Formats: sequence, structure tokens, C-alpha cells
Amino acid sequence: MNYKTILQEVYQEAKKLPSSGNVSTSIPELTKVDPDKFGIHLISIEGEDFGIGDSNEKFSIQSVSKALTVALAFSFLDERIWERLGVEPSGSAFNSLVQLEYEKGIPRNPFINAGAIVIADMLVTHLENPKQDFLDFIRMISGSPTIDFNLKVAQSEKDTRFRNAALANFLKSFGNITNDVEAVLDFYFHQCSIEMTCKELAHSFFFLANEGKTISGIQVLTKSQVKRLNALMQTCGFYDESGEYTYKVGLPGKSGIGGGIAALYPKNFVVSTWSPRLNEKGNSDLGMNALELLTTKTEMSIF
Ligand code: GLU
Repeated sequence: MNYKTILQEVYQEAKKLPSSGNVSTSIPELTKVDPDKFGIHLISIEGEDFGIGDSNEKFSIQSVSKALTVALAFSFLDERIWERLGVEPSGSAFNSLVQLEYEKGIPRNPFINAGAIVIADMLVTHLENPKQDFLDFIRMISGSPTIDFNLKVAQSEKDTRFRNAALANFLKSFGNITNDVEAVLDFYFHQCSIEMTCKELAHSFFFLANEGKTISGIQVLTKSQVKRLNALMQTCGFYDESGEYTYKVGLPGKSGIGGGIAALYPKNFVVSTWSPRLNEKGNSDLGMNALELLTTKTEMSIF
């Protein structure tokens, strides 16, 4: 497969499509980003890298980090994480409170905010230095020791945390947060504030295309855990647009309101895109279009 040529075509064609949407306004610090940034990076399973556009610029990975916190929690708690969370698509907005009431504080899945906050609680319990240990995990799986939090973004999210604070407190009222609410939110805001380039993001997700092994050969998850995490990304990774994304792209993936997407074709490649303009569901408009072009041109989708 000539990924280089295909990526060039995808990049040029996607850029010509009408670009709609706006940069996320929910975190003030994120509004400062240039909306017209656009980058793509693909790493093949053989370890060959292909990047185009702004693929070497750092951006806020936001909810893309949720796949990686689940991976870490999964690595030491395995199936026990599902005692406090579901694996069903939510069909509601990522920051919705409504389902929690009638589902008695059990979030539908780990990718909506409520679910990610429960995963954050598990990590706060299990890690000795939660923020640093999670950062070290990210640096290990990506092979990139310079990946870091953006403290301004974390603070900005903390300053405007009303909805996430409501979710965390509501979860706590059901007994599904075991640590101090503020400590859990602090971890959660930091995980969301992590910055990566498209290249670093694609490298971080490599183990999910490679039966659980990172680029440097470290076994992070078992094959069975990888199957499960990829299935979850496929069904729940794009908020309440996961069906549409699956229909168009056909690859497990995870998006974030910073405009990033990581997606993968098991045993073949990992691809990441970054374009900050979001559609009304909170997914990167250009990123989704680019991935649709990629799977159409390569004829490589899991379906
Ligand atoms: N940090 C954001 C929030 O909690 C993440 C949202 C997202 O990327 O979906 O609202």
C-alpha cells in the first residue's frame, strides 16, 4: 500500500471540502487555537511513518486521552472495571447528566465524561502518583519523553468545571467515586490537557493495532483486552455520533474536542488527524472527512 501518495491525496481533497464548524468554546484556553490547522499522521504496522500538514504541531488531545486511561485501568483491573461502568453507546451528549439519574450512577461507557471520571477515580486509587504515573505511561507507550500536560488548559478547564463537577458530585452521591471529588477532577483535567502531535498520538495508539504491544515491543494489554477496547472505541468513541462515524469511516477511533482523532486498523496501521473545527456533535469535521477518504481510497476498514 502506498500510504504516502494516498495521504497526500486525502490531505488535498479533504482541504477542498467545505470546512464547517468552530473551535470548541467550552474550555476558554482552547479558543486560542488557529481553527485552520490540519495535520494527518499514519504509522504502518511495520513502523513506517507518514505525516502531512501540521502533523508535527502539538494540540490538546482532550477526550482522546480517555482511551488511554481505560487502557491503563484495564491493564491492572481487567474486567473488574465493568463493575462500575457499562459498555453501551450513550446516544446522549458527552457531558450529559440525565442517564446517570435513572441508571443509578453507573455511566453507560468510559468515553462519556461521567465514565471517564469514574476511570479517573480508579486511577487515583491505584496509582501512587496519579498524574505523574499516567504521564509516564503515555511517554512509555508513545516512546516520546517530552509529552506533557498543558497547565494553562488544565487550569482553564478547572475554572469552568461546573458541569464536570456536577457529574463527579452526582457520581459520588451514588457511591461511584471513592476519592475526594476535587482530586479526581484534578486528575481528569490534567489527562485531558495532555498535548501531542499527530505523530505522537498515532504512536501512542500503536499497541491497539499491534495486539497490545507498543512500538518498542512492550506488552501493555492482552489481545483480548485490545479487542474489547477497540470494540468500545468503535461503538462509543465519537460521542453520540459514533454510529455516523462507524458508517462513514469503519475504524475503531476516539475523538476529542481539541479537534484530534486517533483511529486504527488492527494489524495494519494507526492514523491520527487534527483539525480544530468541530461539528455540532463535537467531532472534528475535517478529521472525519479525511478518515472517510482514507478508508475509501485504501479500501481498508474493519468492515
Ligand atoms: N475536557 C473536556 C471535558 O471534560 C473533554 C471533552 C472532550 O474532548 O470530549 O469537557
